[in-house]
Amino acid sequence: MRTPTVLLATMAALALMPANPVHASHPNPDPFKHLHNMHYSATEQFCVESFDTAQVSHASARSFVNQTLTQMGSGKVWNGLGEGRIDLRVTNNPCSAYDPATRATIEIEVYYGWDWSGVCGAPVGYYNCVVHDLPVWDAERGHNDARWAYVYLVFSSGGRLDNVGRGFINHEFGHVWGLADHGVVNSSCTPASLMHSSVVGYPCTNWPNWYPSPADFQSVLRIMA
Ligand SMILES: [Zn+2]
Ligand SMILES: [Zn+2]
Repeated sequence: MRTPTVLLATMAALALMPANPVHASHPNPDPFKHLHNMHYSATEQFCVESFDTAQVSHASARSFVNQTLTQMGSGKVWNGLGEGRIDLRVTNNPCSAYDPATRATIEIEVYYGWDWSGVCGAPVGYYNCVVHDLPVWDAERGHNDARWAYVYLVFSSGGRLDNVGRGFINHEFGHVWGLADHGVVNSSCTPASLMHSSVVGYPCTNWPNWYPSPADFQSVLRIMA
């Protein structure tokens, strides 16, 4: 825990520096916008479900998400961050294969589909998004964060099985860990971040990669601390 003196000093420093990296990499100030288990060595299980298996099978979607999040190499994956506090484990079956009690133990559900505008907003078939669910009290930190998160991917962008899809998967998982979009906390392009990159439709061209930036990893480390 920070002492009040240190906290005040930190706040004063933030007030003096509008382009402070803490803000510019977009941590969401609302604790319900991050997953509870990321604070702890507990695993984050995730299941993957295709809502049109003629377009993308459950197995293809599952292996692509798992590869993107866990198998692309050091410095390119969310998995392992914070000395394993992010410890992603893919389930063997699609989300709907599990009975409700078992399904409730899975922290993250990833959905592939044509259109999530009813959840993510108009226009039809355009937006990917993340929804957090079930507040859980973290006594150690004194806030309510989220037990579950749902990741909605559209076939036109986040649901593609290529580097465009990888960029969106990593961006949406940035949301799972508590990062916000460009314009929510601020609209600075500094430091470089997948949360405001042109790779995922935002205006900043200083992060042209499909994987999270060093600042993104640092921001999530601060949230999980
Ligand atoms: Zn928390
Ligand atoms: Zn976003």
